[in-house]
Amino acid sequence: MYEEVINFIRELYKTDGFIPLHAPVFRGNEEKYVLDAIRSTFVSSVGVYVRKFEEKIAEYTGAKHAIATVNGTSALHVALLLSGVSPGDEVITQPLTFVATCNAIKYCGAEPVFVDVSLKTLGMCPDSLESFLNEFADLRGEYAYNKRTGRRIKACVPVHVFGHPVEIDKIIEICKRYNIDVIEDSAESLGSFYKNKHTGTFGKFGILSFNGNKIITTGGGGMILTNDEELAKKAKHITTTAKVPHTYEYFHDEVGYNYRMPNINAALGVAQLEQLENFLKIKMKIAQEYKIFFDKKGINFFTEPKDCRSNYWLNAIILESKKQRDEFLEITNKNSIQTRPVWTLMYKLPMYKNYFKVDTPNAEYIEERLVNIPSGVIHE
Ligand SMILES: *Cc1c(COP(=O)(O)O)cnc(C)c1O
Repeated sequence: MYEEVINFIRELYKTDGFIPLHAPVFRGNEEKYVLDAIRSTFVSSVGVYVRKFEEKIAEYTGAKHAIATVNGTSALHVALLLSGVSPGDEVITQPLTFVATCNAIKYCGAEPVFVDVSLKTLGMCPDSLESFLNEFADLRGEYAYNKRTGRRIKACVPVHVFGHPVEIDKIIEICKRYNIDVIEDSAESLGSFYKNKHTGTFGKFGILSFNGNKIITTGGGGMILTNDEELAKKAKHITTTAKVPHTYEYFHDEVGYNYRMPNINAALGVAQLEQLENFLKIKMKIAQEYKIFFDKKGINFFTEPKDCRSNYWLNAIILESKKQRDEFLEITNKNSIQTRPVWTLMYKLPMYKNYFKVDTPNAEYIEERLVNIPSGVIHE
């Protein structure tokens, strides 16, 4: 089996050399725009490319407002702060995610609480969320409180894992009953749509990441998406040190953050975004070929959920056991094909192991069996 898998991936990527999980591809206007940014001398957080990148992302996603940040983690941090997440609050999320989701919650002084993921989406399971709230949440006045911990439950952060959209409409409907804000961690899902609407545009906020391993990159970068004009203004304000606009005076009216994306990174982003549709087509084709191949082998290749268009950011197979997974990882990596297991579940990490959680059998199942396989855009 392994030899066929290795040969198949080598043919797909047309190389005998090392095949990374996901490498960026720069074959458009990247050098031109970055050089232009350098020559303009506006390389830092003021410059035309930042505005342009924000406009293009807003246009592409359909979000009314987009605010560029230094990375996806800072975008999440600010989205949580502007949702009113305060020290001592709880924020519902899923254990199957990249650590940044929980870190951003902690930056606000809040605590993550964990519900299960769905085997259909890999993202937050609406049934698990609903049964957690039914059993443990108590609406007292305006807000919901966790009956066990006494803490206020202020927000919920579902994650569109590997670009596959979660059932976001159900999650929003459930959270609404408890006055819980939904912030979509759509760091991995630029180009993914749920019922023809872009991921990250359903909740109060959505966030994107443009880290080097994401579908398009700015080197490092992120974006806050929102349809609320007031919140968009506040986001811009606190990501730019809360400076009150003035030609020469320094006046800052609250504790702000130095979170604005530099122009030089945005220049790279504008060039990358021009190629997104093409990247998506190629990634769709890679996923289709994997699907045909793994179907023949009787291996479960993860495909986009119902009513969705996924960007297939990272392709995944789900093997039969942890033993088989370990063998697969061992042999492919030994043969210079980079494959990786999914993240260690958040509540198994030392800093997140003592927080409230419900039973999460699906997350446990996926953690033991899922393997990500090479998914980058193929060089032509
Ligand atoms: C990449 C990623 C982030 C964080 O983005 P950075 O730009 O690396 O800070 C957050 N959440 C998820 C699910 C991610 O994959």
